[in-house]
Amino acid sequence: MQALVKIKKGEGFIEVRDVPEPECSPNEVLIKVKAAGICGTDLHIWHDKMIYWPPVIMGHEFSGEIVKTGKSVAGWKKGDRVVAEPHTRACGVCYLCRSGNIHLCPHKRAIGWGIDGAFADYVKMPFHLLHRIPENVSYEEAALSEPLAIAVNCVILNSGVKAADTVVVEGAGAIGLLAGMTARAAGAKEVIITGVTQDEKLRLKKAKELGFKTVNVEKEDLNKLVLDLTEGRGADVVIEAAGVEASVNTAIQIAKRLGKIAIIGITGEEKINVSWNEAVFKALDIKFCFSSNFDSWERALFFMSKRKVQTSALITHIASIREWKKLFTELEEGKGIKGLFTF
Ligand SMILES: [Zn+2]
Ligand SMILES: [Zn+2]
Repeated sequence: MQALVKIKKGEGFIEVRDVPEPECSPNEVLIKVKAAGICGTDLHIWHDKMIYWPPVIMGHEFSGEIVKTGKSVAGWKKGDRVVAEPHTRACGVCYLCRSGNIHLCPHKRAIGWGIDGAFADYVKMPFHLLHRIPENVSYEEAALSEPLAIAVNCVILNSGVKAADTVVVEGAGAIGLLAGMTARAAGAKEVIITGVTQDEKLRLKKAKELGFKTVNVEKEDLNKLVLDLTEGRGADVVIEAAGVEASVNTAIQIAKRLGKIAIIGITGEEKINVSWNEAVFKALDIKFCFSSNFDSWERALFFMSKRKVQTSALITHIASIREWKKLFTELEEGKGIKGLFTF
């Protein structure tokens, strides 16, 4: 089969290769990949900016159809339409795994960087990580289950957005827009999405089309807008999905006293400067939301099936893996929101 492979460590070294089809062990299913999303992580692997184990087939966000089941697989059959949590190789015995937090297991090696992933005709997955795609959700839409589950984990399970909250989402990339839609699905009164000048053409425009208030923080006064909308109190919840020092500090500034901040963005810096005193004296509740769990996947699929979150609105590119370089480059330059490979 054809697969997009990071062949060795270093900048670049990505190739479409002919590789053998994966073979299932007894507790695994073989999945014909239908659509697979490109994530910031894939661009980091391209540029050698994160940990990975080459040679490895890339891709961790996907949807597909089961074509084969291992002997011990129960509850799943050939023809089932599925998505899967990428938490492969979680050990199952550490305190995190045993307390239901396999996504944080230190032994986890997820598909797409730790073991072979989904930028290929076929991928194998342990059956305990599968979720069923609702009938009215397409493979393309379902390919965004993983980033939506991350948004749900952050917005609903970690920051606990409540009905009638005023929510600010910093960052207008795919995760920011999914977080905005999730906050709205959770009943937020007002959702403001922020971006910078480079986001105006596409990402902030999309946010507007989706019905959000938008702010270009390089040109407009976000703090004033938030104070105006909240009778001077500040935002109930701020979701930091930009991953830059400045926006972490903006979150502290615009959150109300006793407000909540949920961090999804990754700055990539070892240390950043934070307005510590302001956060202390406002008694802020700051949550770090890394990855996604079972509960967030189930809720993400529910939101898709009820059309509360429209993942299709974010798909700007669909291509074959042979066109990977063009697609990765365009996404990196901010000329897309979510790119998919289809098979
Ligand atoms: Zn991802
Ligand atoms: Zn573990």
